[in-house]
Amino acid sequence: MSDTSTVRSKRILSPKVAGRIDWLLVLLAFASGVLHPKPGMYYDSQWRVFLVIIIPLLLASGAVYWFAERFGERIQGPRRKSPPLLKEGFETTRAMFVVACLAAWPIGLARAGHPTGLVWTLEQMGVSWWVVILQMVAGIVLIDAWTYWKHRLLHTRMLFAFHRHHHSFRDPTPFAGFAVGPLETLLTFCPLLLICWPQAKHFAPMYFTAIISFVLLNLYLHCGVTYRWMERLIPALGLNSSAWHNVHHSDVHVNFGEVSYIWDRICGTAKAEEATNETKRTSNEAGLTSV
Ligand SMILES: [Zn+2]
Repeated sequence: MSDTSTVRSKRILSPKVAGRIDWLLVLLAFASGVLHPKPGMYYDSQWRVFLVIIIPLLLASGAVYWFAERFGERIQGPRRKSPPLLKEGFETTRAMFVVACLAAWPIGLARAGHPTGLVWTLEQMGVSWWVVILQMVAGIVLIDAWTYWKHRLLHTRMLFAFHRHHHSFRDPTPFAGFAVGPLETLLTFCPLLLICWPQAKHFAPMYFTAIISFVLLNLYLHCGVTYRWMERLIPALGLNSSAWHNVHHSDVHVNFGEVSYIWDRICGTAKAEEATNETKRTSNEAGLTSV
């Protein structure tokens, strides 16, 4: 029996069923707006947020892709064929549609005059600036842990069907940075809903800075090339680099961290980028791990 058929026999959900569930989740996320205190404000916010996210994201992806294809050191060697940009772009667009469905909840509430957890001044935070910084660092540590374990769960037999499409982009471009299915999108971005709760204060200037930094980091993680100074600087900050994350696209049993490499080191799932050449283009069908 081939590796692929062995894995198929182990699957709990077929890709077709997972695909239907994913589309159902898109519909449910969009339909959730009817439960909003102001449904009209929710849907007005949803399409605006969607455009505000997707247009800059696709433009930034295009710019990073253009640059990375001309400059930088290719991690997996010269491309053997053209990357599936349309597929990556479509999946990213669908994911950001779902993100807009989540973000429209707190934004719709704020626009309707309801209190939310998003505040713009230290006075509104009610704490000192150093407490705000500590809270931000704690938030990043929590998000790092959340995304690591979410990613490990998506590699289990139960949930891999919802994540396998991202691994079809074995030699990704920046357009694949957010090219994940709706279930994965909901799991990754559900912390946005915390802002609906006025007690969960988020200091907007730092919160948006962190989000934009995460987006830019993710574009670099999927650009397919490395730059020496980036590969020195980013790991020194405790964050993933392009070389590090690219390993996960060619060897799906390692390097699950989405923000830092800390949890991979703690859990023994880290694999240094230097050791990856022998495992290039390993079948992602074998990407099932236990948690
Ligand atoms: Zn993965």
